[in-house]
Amino acid sequence: MTSKIIRKSEKSFATSNMQDYEEVYGSFAWEEARARLDGFDNGCLNIAHECVDRHVAQGRGERVAIRWVGKDDTTKDLTYRDLRDLTNRFANIIAKHGAQRGDSLFCMMGRLPEVYVSALGSMKAGLTFSPLFAAFGPDPIRSRMEIGKATVLVTTEALYNRKIKSWRSEVPSLKLVLLVNCKGTPPDGCLSLDQEMEAASDTFETVHTKLEDKALIHFTSGTTGKPKGAVHVHGAIIAHAETGRIALDMQDGDVFWCTADPGWVTGTSYGIISPLANGLTLIVDEAEFNAKRWYRLLETQKVNIWYTAPTAIRMLMAAGRDLAADHDFSDLRFMSSVGEPLNAEAVIWGEDVFGHPFHDNWWQTETGGIMLANYASMDVKPGSMGKPLPGIVASIVEKDPSGKIVELTEPMKIGELALRSGWPSMMRAYLDEEARYNKCFVEGWYLTDDLAKRDADGYYWFVGRADDLIKSSGHLIGPFEVESAIIEHPAVSEVAVIGLPDPQAGEIVKAYVALNPGQTPDEALELDIRAHARKRLGPAVAPRQIVFRKSLPKTRSGKIMRRLLKARELGLPEGDISTLESDEA
Ligand code: ATP
Ligand code: MG
Repeated sequence: MTSKIIRKSEKSFATSNMQDYEEVYGSFAWEEARARLDGFDNGCLNIAHECVDRHVAQGRGERVAIRWVGKDDTTKDLTYRDLRDLTNRFANIIAKHGAQRGDSLFCMMGRLPEVYVSALGSMKAGLTFSPLFAAFGPDPIRSRMEIGKATVLVTTEALYNRKIKSWRSEVPSLKLVLLVNCKGTPPDGCLSLDQEMEAASDTFETVHTKLEDKALIHFTSGTTGKPKGAVHVHGAIIAHAETGRIALDMQDGDVFWCTADPGWVTGTSYGIISPLANGLTLIVDEAEFNAKRWYRLLETQKVNIWYTAPTAIRMLMAAGRDLAADHDFSDLRFMSSVGEPLNAEAVIWGEDVFGHPFHDNWWQTETGGIMLANYASMDVKPGSMGKPLPGIVASIVEKDPSGKIVELTEPMKIGELALRSGWPSMMRAYLDEEARYNKCFVEGWYLTDDLAKRDADGYYWFVGRADDLIKSSGHLIGPFEVESAIIEHPAVSEVAVIGLPDPQAGEIVKAYVALNPGQTPDEALELDIRAHARKRLGPAVAPRQIVFRKSLPKTRSGKIMRRLLKARELGLPEGDISTLESDEA
């Protein structure tokens, strides 16, 4: 843990949505957030209405909702009015072809404008939307669509031919397949979305969904095991909108860039719903990560709020700060990160390069929205996840021998991070896994399976996944603490730490290290990194073994898969690797 605190200025208090965290936290009620939304007269609420139609009705129709930037740098703007008309057409198409309220629609393609139209159009028509990452192979796609009982699929012709066609007839629930970018006549049993869109009417009456009606199915990242399908409801938008306003400081008309792919929960909750509900302009970049391109986009698109992830930040850091030097980032007001622990060094690097720290925040697929955050108006302790959102009660807990929950109130005690259940975007089910879902809720708490500690000022610090805690010679070692120290070594770009069984110590700490460009993985460097780790952590916690890897195994959402490193080390089965990005074993 670093002792440096990044103090916020008077100006950031005055200009941010939430000026005084403690005051707002103390008085907040979810009804206030609900009242900021529109809703229908009968008490119903539909995510798509809040994200799109409401803005047109209230005079914001000409504002750009989505600025799409193609791989070749061509741009395409969709105003809120355009988005209303396109989503109406889309809703008409699926309704005409028999899709009904409660059915589920899956969408699988790269970051094309049709993803956004499908997401919002399907929710308008009362269907459940489920995004899939385009790089999944045929089996993970099929199994997710079977679990989610997919009725409609929207994809590209090329992806359909490569990944779906061969098994499509074996999934009887799938009634309608709409293809984007069809060249000529669509394959048997499919329709061209482009043709259908031309013919469809652009008026549609949005289905009056109830707060508890299903809206989204999101599969977890598969970092710790087989991905789970978490179900979210239309009422979740109360949390999506409010957490964007408070934790990401979204203000009317801001330009917002969330770099997460909509195939994952972050790319939907904060890549679509939250910013649109707040009337922002979204930047959608079709291309993959490229440090130069990202700096250019931040500057030329005049991004005000940027929401990204530790893996991307580490890649920017490894590319060298010179790349950022000639850019003007004066439009950037707030930078934030989620998905994995963000080490203190990266938070501070943000301040050096952009003039703002990265604000780390924590949440899960299951929580639907941000639960702990560093706020625009709150001092940042680099390396900490911040404090609970207004409306969220968090605690550090453990189970006593009888299985009862005990809250650990003493500062810096390691325990499981728990949230008082009942916030609007809490998952309502794990598909097909009722027992597992029920196990997450004990005595009114939702148990997150993450270990953390809370300091005397109420800031939360990530320790590791419950499964990743290392017990070595009587010490409890959180992998994040060790990783954060090692990554401060100037040669290191990425690191993952695991515990390996050891007859004397119980477990020993082993680190897998990827180096910055230009570094040589030799014995001298290994010794140097070990010495650095021992100095920072002491001999009991520093890794006993360090090995070099060109890259570390990660999920497609960019999370390091420690369980895979461990399984490979111990010669155990690799388990579900459907979300693994290709890696170097
Ligand atoms: P699975 O549940 O399938 O193993 P996953 O937990 O990685 O996958 P997600 O819901 O995408 O799936 O990720 C949530 C997890 O990511 C959290 O439980 C936490 O472990 C990690 N995480 C998210 N944000 C942070 C953060 N700011 N700091 C530390 N860890 C984080
Ligand atoms: Mg998880």
